Amino acid sequence: MPELPEVETIRRGLSKFILKKKLVKVEVLCEKSFVGDKAVVIGKKVMELRRFGKALVIDFEGEKSVMIHLRMTGQLIWQGKERYAAGHPSENFVAELPNKQTRVVFEFEDGKLFFNDQRKFGFCKAMDSSEVEKDEFIKKLAKEPWVMGVEELVEQFKRHKNSVVKAVLLDQSIICGLGNIYADETLFFAGVHPERRAGTISEVEAKKILEGARKVMQESIDSGGSTMATYVKADGTRGDYLEKFAQVFRKEGTPCPKCGTMIKKIRVAGRGTHICPECQK
Ligand SMILES: [Zn+2]
Repeated sequence: MPELPEVETIRRGLSKFILKKKLVKVEVLCEKSFVGDKAVVIGKKVMELRRFGKALVIDFEGEKSVMIHLRMTGQLIWQGKERYAAGHPSENFVAELPNKQTRVVFEFEDGKLFFNDQRKFGFCKAMDSSEVEKDEFIKKLAKEPWVMGVEELVEQFKRHKNSVVKAVLLDQSIICGLGNIYADETLFFAGVHPERRAGTISEVEAKKILEGARKVMQESIDSGGSTMATYVKADGTRGDYLEKFAQVFRKEGTPCPKCGTMIKKIRVAGRGTHICPECQK
């Protein structure tokens, strides 16, 4: 499942290809994958691409928008003169499209945007731009680390004082955007053990956690997301957050970059969790 930094990477990547371009046709190959009236965006130019949590919103002229949720297996693949592929990595990134996993085809003046979704949990939704922020999904999104203040995080830790801190960080209704990779990296950065009760986190530690969350997510966005499979994007690069920046995630059995102790893999909040037993207290 793409995490927030991947969706932000997609937003930036796709902007290069579809911004200011006119949508000439929308072909819905699977009814379930497109909600609303596609006619409202046909013939209109793309004005902006926005992201709310893990939802991507394409704003068209005339105050109309299409919201896209990739969910588990969604992909967005642009095919113009070049190809740009993002989302759930699979052989579709280099396959001939459309194919049997293609659910919606957005045809622009100079290329096509394919929405593929093997498991059909994702969808596109046409709506008035004014409705976007009132959407049920968007409304319930918690703040992202960039806009959350330390006091708010401290407050949340107090409110969930008996939960383990990693579980609190993974709870998207508390703080938006930290998936498993980013939670581990954040807690390593902050020197906080993932099994600590949230109620025991000091204000100084909360500040460090917030700083870490911003840092690891920003690094991931800058490097093109954390996609683990090998694939080549239109510009010949690929997402390599794990190789470049991960300090502990999937590094069990290798020395901690801070102190040299072996990184350990444990289970916290039902998730595989990577820690330095020396640095994280
Ligand atoms: Zn260490």
